[in-house]
Amino acid sequence: MQGWSCPHNINEICQIRNGKPCEPGYPGCILFGKMVFADPEHPSNKAFHEKRRQQRKTPASETETGAKKTDTD
Ligand code: SF4
Repeated sequence: MQGWSCPHNINEICQIRNGKPCEPGYPGCILFGKMVFADPEHPSNKAFHEKRRQQRKTPASETETGAKKTDTD
């Protein structure tokens, strides 16, 4: 099994969070809001679920991937 290593982690320091220690899924991290972590209090979890809620409320025609309606449709 192969693990994942973040290209922004250099010696446990995050290169995109202003030199803060690597904290996967915390605000500023590329994983923030993109996945659910085992710790129910992890900040990424709330952001993840909020994003999902917003996606369910937004009609497909208003999303980036939704097909746009034209007068000729
Ligand atoms: S905090 Fe996130 S973006 Fe930064 S090094 Fe860690 S895993 Fe990568």
